[in-house]
Amino acid sequence: MAGRILIVDDVPTNRALLKAKLSTAYFEVTTVETTLDVEDLAKTQQPDLILIDVALADRCSYDLCVGLKSAAETAHIPVVMITAADATDQRVRGLECGADDFLCKPFDDLTLIARVRALMRVKISFDEMRLRDDTSRELGLHRFLYSDQPEVEPTGRILISASDAAEGQSWSDTLSTHLDIDVVNATGSPDAMVLVKGQPPDIIMIHQDPAGGADGLEVLSALRSQRSSGQSTFIFVVEQGQEAIAAAALDQGASDYISTPFDPNELIVRVRSQLRRKRYSDRLRSNVIDGLKMAVIDPLTGLYNRRYAMQHLEGISERAAREGDGYAILMMDLDEFKVVNDLYGHAAGDDVLVEFARRLQENIRGIDLVARIGGEEFFVAMPATEPEHAAFVAERLRAAIETTPFEVQGQSAQINITVSIGVAASERWRDVPGEVLRNADVALYEAKNGGRNVVRVFCQAA
Ligand code: GH3
Ligand code: MG
Ligand code: MG
Repeated sequence: MAGRILIVDDVPTNRALLKAKLSTAYFEVTTVETTLDVEDLAKTQQPDLILIDVALADRCSYDLCVGLKSAAETAHIPVVMITAADATDQRVRGLECGADDFLCKPFDDLTLIARVRALMRVKISFDEMRLRDDTSRELGLHRFLYSDQPEVEPTGRILISASDAAEGQSWSDTLSTHLDIDVVNATGSPDAMVLVKGQPPDIIMIHQDPAGGADGLEVLSALRSQRSSGQSTFIFVVEQGQEAIAAAALDQGASDYISTPFDPNELIVRVRSQLRRKRYSDRLRSNVIDGLKMAVIDPLTGLYNRRYAMQHLEGISERAAREGDGYAILMMDLDEFKVVNDLYGHAAGDDVLVEFARRLQENIRGIDLVARIGGEEFFVAMPATEPEHAAFVAERLRAAIETTPFEVQGQSAQINITVSIGVAASERWRDVPGEVLRNADVALYEAKNGGRNVVRVFCQAA
C-alpha cells in the first residue's frame, strides 16, 4: 500500500528527516519549502496524505489546514499536523481545524509509519466509494441522493471498554457532557461483544488492558471481525510510552489512538472527528447503495428498467424450468402517445406515464415483475401463470386504462389514453426467454395492426 505524501515544513532538516523515514516505508514523498502554494499543489497533485508542521514561519498552519479541508478538491485528503511534544493545545486546535491526526516530535518511527498507514487505508476505502459515488453523479443521479443540508454537530453512539470502572465513568462523563452522543459503558460488563450486538455503536473505545482481564488488542480484532461491529470505528487507548501497542492497534484496523493520561479536550475532538468521518463514510456507502438501486430503477415511474427486467426474466425462466412451471409475459405500448405529447406537452406526457405505471401496478400481483422498458413501452413478467390468465389480466388492465381518462397537471381537460398489449407464454419443454419476448412483441404488433386498444395472445403458427 504505497501512497503519495506531501510534506509541508519550512525547516530543511525536518523535511529531509521525515522524507527519509517515510521513503523507507516505500511512500512517494514530495516536499514543499514555501507554503504559499500548498493548496494549488494539493489540488493538482492529489496526494494521499498531507503532513503540515504546526510552526510555519510564513503562514498560520491552522489556516492552511482549514483552507485544505474546506476546498472540495482537497477536503478528502487526510491532514496530519506535526506538533511539539506535550503541546496539548496545539493538538486540540489542529484537530478542531479539521486535521485528521497529529504527530509529536521527535518521531517514533513505529507510530509514524503505523499512523500514516492507518490514514492511507481510510483514504483508499473512501476513494473507492467516492469513485462509485462519482459514477452515479455522472449518470445524473446525484440530485436524487444528496440533500444540501449544512454540516451539523455529529451525533452517535459510543461503546467504552476502559481499564476499570472509575476510568470508564470519567470518559463517559467527559464525552456525554460535551457531545450529543449516547455512551454505553462496557467496563465491568463481562463482555463488550454482547453489547455491540443490539444497536451497533459508531465508535468503540478500547483500553489496552480492559477490565475483565482480556487483552485489548484481542478484543479489538474480535470486535472488528464481528458483523454487528464491522462498520464501527475504533479508538484505542494506550498507557503513555506504549507506542508499540498503539502501532499494533492501528495496524489491526483501529482508526485512532490516544495515550493516557489525556486532556479531556483531546478526547472530545478526537471522538468528534471520528464521528464526522464515520458519518461521511456512512453517507458515501448509502449513496453507493442508492446509486446501485438507481441503476436498475426508472426515475420517472419508479418501476424497474429494461436492464433489470431482462436480467430478472432469466431468473424467472430458470426457476420455471426447475419447478416445471410456465410463465407469461405482457408487452405493452401506449397508443398514439406522440399525439399526447404534441397536444399537451412533454410534461403532461410524463404525468400520463406515471399514472399509467400506477394503474399497471394496481392490476397485477406482488410476485409479477413490472418494468418500463422503453419510452412508452412497459413489460410484465408473470411467474407460474397460464396464458389464459395472463390474457385475462391484460384485458382488465386495458379496460382500466381506457375507461378512466387521465388527469394531468396544468390541464383542465382529461386525456383519453389507450394501450395495446401483446401476450405470450413460455413453452414448458423448450423455454427460451428471448423467444418468449419476441413472441410477445409479435402479438403486440398484431394488436397495433388490429386497430390498437386491444389485447392479442401469441399463437404458434401450425
Ligand atoms: P403507436 O400507437 O404506434 O405506438 O404510436 P406512438 O405515437 O405511441 O408511437 P411512437 O413510437 O411514434 O411515439 C412514441 C412517443 O413516445 C414519442 C416520444 O416522444 C414519446 N415518449 C417516449 N418517451 C417519453 C417520455 O419519457 N416522456 C414523454 N412525455 N414522452 C415520451
Ligand atoms: Mg413505442
Ligand atoms: Mg406507442
